[in-house]
Amino acid sequence: MNIILLGPPGAGKGTQASRLVADRGMVQLSTGDMLRAAVKAGTPVGLQAKAVMESGGLVSDEIVSGIIGERLDEMDRDSGAIFDGYPRTEAQAHSLDTLLGDRGRDLDHVIELEVDEDALVERITGRFTCAKCGEGYHDKFKLPKFEGVCDVCGSSEFKRRADDNEETVRTRMAEYRAKTAPILPIYEARGLVKRVDGMADIDEVTRQIEAILDA
Ligand SMILES: [Zn+2]
Repeated sequence: MNIILLGPPGAGKGTQASRLVADRGMVQLSTGDMLRAAVKAGTPVGLQAKAVMESGGLVSDEIVSGIIGERLDEMDRDSGAIFDGYPRTEAQAHSLDTLLGDRGRDLDHVIELEVDEDALVERITGRFTCAKCGEGYHDKFKLPKFEGVCDVCGSSEFKRRADDNEETVRTRMAEYRAKTAPILPIYEARGLVKRVDGMADIDEVTRQIEAILDA
């Protein structure tokens, strides 16, 4: 089972991917993370990517494909792959078909976590965490039981991420739409796109994804 997981930042893609990794032994192939890991490990493709990045250039599709290929080759044949942040262009979508096809794998589903933009803004701008233990809270959905005191560790220091503001969220949303716009029609035409309600409760989103994978 190989899937592409789509959704704007804040839609809960990371949480859902981690659950699929933990529950089904799938492997998450996040191109950004993989690129950093390949550079660090000094693999042949990683060295090429490092040279390009150091010269201030953009990492080519060929290098990204090379990194994905290296990772797929390391994976257990029975483990499914979750692609995250890739493909982003029609050319990359075709490369992915080749990468999978060469290894006897198929792309099974393209799952999009659908979000309501205004609700997403509310969800993201309201979140904050305990500065000491990292427990997550929300102005509207999850306040500490005693105001100003962390439920878990009792600390009274909290922090908010600077980029959790409305303007940033709306910009990221627009970027996401621009990036997925070129690839969605390709997969729509192949009947691979499945949509889940990304605004539902986390467990419900997981149930919806599991139902698609088990169908
Ligand atoms: Zn705490």
